[in-house]
Amino acid sequence: MTTSVSGLPKGLPTAIRAAIREIPDYPRPGISFKDITPLLGDGALYGAACELMAAPFRGHGITHVLSVESRGFLFGGPVAVALGAGLVPVRKPGKLPFQTTREEYALEYGTDALEVHVDALGAASRVLVADDVLATGGTAAAATRLVQRLGGEVVGSTFLIELAFLGGRARLPEQRVESAVVYTG
Ligand code: AMP
Repeated sequence: MTTSVSGLPKGLPTAIRAAIREIPDYPRPGISFKDITPLLGDGALYGAACELMAAPFRGHGITHVLSVESRGFLFGGPVAVALGAGLVPVRKPGKLPFQTTREEYALEYGTDALEVHVDALGAASRVLVADDVLATGGTAAAATRLVQRLGGEVVGSTFLIELAFLGGRARLPEQRVESAVVYTG
């Protein structure tokens, strides 16, 4: 494969997409679930995918990568290491041991909530949100509000997969949004 300006192979997004298995009608009829386990099982491709997610944010002074449990951690950790940044875990209610602040967000049916430690970020924090999938954008928007509540700045967000037909990008204004592979339908 030839390489791009970032030094990563130009065919990388195609190889990543080929390693994502689509499971029709899971977990509910009408949902095409993106199963990333074949990608995770290929060490070279997993590492390259994390590099691809980190690359647009090199040189942007990212101090912290914030990721949401549980699949988000699979990418947040490696992206943080690649950027030399700290990792901030965001978890479902009651999972973090220290004092937390909470953000609620709408699901298709009902609401859910995310929590972060109150001392995880501050005014000098330049944050990148990392997750496996950008779908409706509700999770990433809630993560963005958590960062802002703690006084930090969301520089951008990076995803392995973007389901562009769900329009999640529109819910993340005033930040740079990058995704390694995009599904348009
Ligand atoms: P959303 O808040 O709608 O952007 O959804 C984002 C989260 O939902 C991601 O962290 C994914 O883990 C999960 N998700 C949503 N849709 C899918 C899908 N089709 N395949 C796999 N995971 C999904």
